[in-house]
Amino acid sequence: MVSKKFNSLENRDLKSRCHQPKTNGQKQETRNKGPNTRNQTPETNNRPLRRSPQPETRNRPFIIPIFLPHAGCPHQCIFCNQISITGIKKRTISTEKLHSHIEEFLKYKAKQRKPVQIAFFGGNFLGMNADDIALLLAEAAGFVEQGVVDSIRFSTRPDTIDRKSLDLIKNFPVSTVELGVQSMDNEVLALAKRGHTRADTQKAVYLLKDRNYEIGLQIMVGLPGDNQAKTFNTGHRITNLAPDFVRIYPTVVLAGSPLARWYQTGKYVPLSLQECVHQVKHLYVLFKQNTIRVIRMGLQASQDLAEGSTVLAGPYHPAFGHLVHCALFLDRAVSALKSKAVLGNHVIIRVHPNNISKMRGLKNGNISKLKQQFQFKSVNIIPDSAFGENELSVIAPA
Ligand code: SF4
Repeated sequence: MVSKKFNSLENRDLKSRCHQPKTNGQKQETRNKGPNTRNQTPETNNRPLRRSPQPETRNRPFIIPIFLPHAGCPHQCIFCNQISITGIKKRTISTEKLHSHIEEFLKYKAKQRKPVQIAFFGGNFLGMNADDIALLLAEAAGFVEQGVVDSIRFSTRPDTIDRKSLDLIKNFPVSTVELGVQSMDNEVLALAKRGHTRADTQKAVYLLKDRNYEIGLQIMVGLPGDNQAKTFNTGHRITNLAPDFVRIYPTVVLAGSPLARWYQTGKYVPLSLQECVHQVKHLYVLFKQNTIRVIRMGLQASQDLAEGSTVLAGPYHPAFGHLVHCALFLDRAVSALKSKAVLGNHVIIRVHPNNISKMRGLKNGNISKLKQQFQFKSVNIIPDSAFGENELSVIAPA
């Protein structure tokens, strides 16, 4: 995975750009800012299909994403095609391009927006060769040194974390490491051709904790050989590792992935959207109960994914996370209606103003379901700022 571009650059004074991590151990909200999720300038980036402020996404860091599709990957995992997800074909970036990309993003940052992180995504960061890693980190560290960026984050495979690789990054201001865990079931990992085991993930988390990094774990639902029991078991094992945050992705069949061949020959059948939302909902509840932040559910919506030639099959939805929240609010309303034994033709449900759309459901789907299940003629949802993030009340008007 040698990047000629990295290595062909003039020698740089790396030492002058190295730092001790400034933000290790910080508990930060870490979702992407929104539309600017590729190696593109904000003006040219495709707009997401949905973007609405939610209470739990405020004070998120300003992320400057650098996508290096499949950089450092030892092979192609069965479900993966980073090029089709990101729309970026180059797996490398020159330091000049990296510099201008970061500067471009910084122009769009609101003055008070903090913290700011440079994020290397889309590959196996610590799988790249040591010189390339150091060059990229040194370039990013220069912005930290200037005080315009707070820290660096990257995603990598669990089996790249060892004392040697952590020694390599220890003098750079890396605060956050995301591990592509995918599953904690060894059979599922083998079928996905991950090339690592649950034990690699456990060891990686311990090593990262030992060095006080903020840790994010990425898991997938609906992989070949997976089922609800195994998924929930993965959720419990992840909970035991106590990461700072998780991302939950549905397994979709991406064009150009090995899984696409399995799907076309009938060897793999993806989860339905409904089943996937159901499983992710339970994982979300489990993580929230254990105060583990869930910073993403579903793939980042983009024009490419929406066009249909990238996702061949599977539970892709541009507002997947919203669907999970809608399902949670439906559960809460049903439970409240049953426990209060609300009778009559009409019902009023009060929720926080930010949760109106979650309570209504996509295309008012929750209202239809409540009408059908309880034989209501009308379901009126009222915004009430006295309610908390997950609260609601049900009442039958006199
Ligand atoms: S899942 Fe990660 S390691 Fe596997 S091919 Fe994709 S980017 Fe590479």
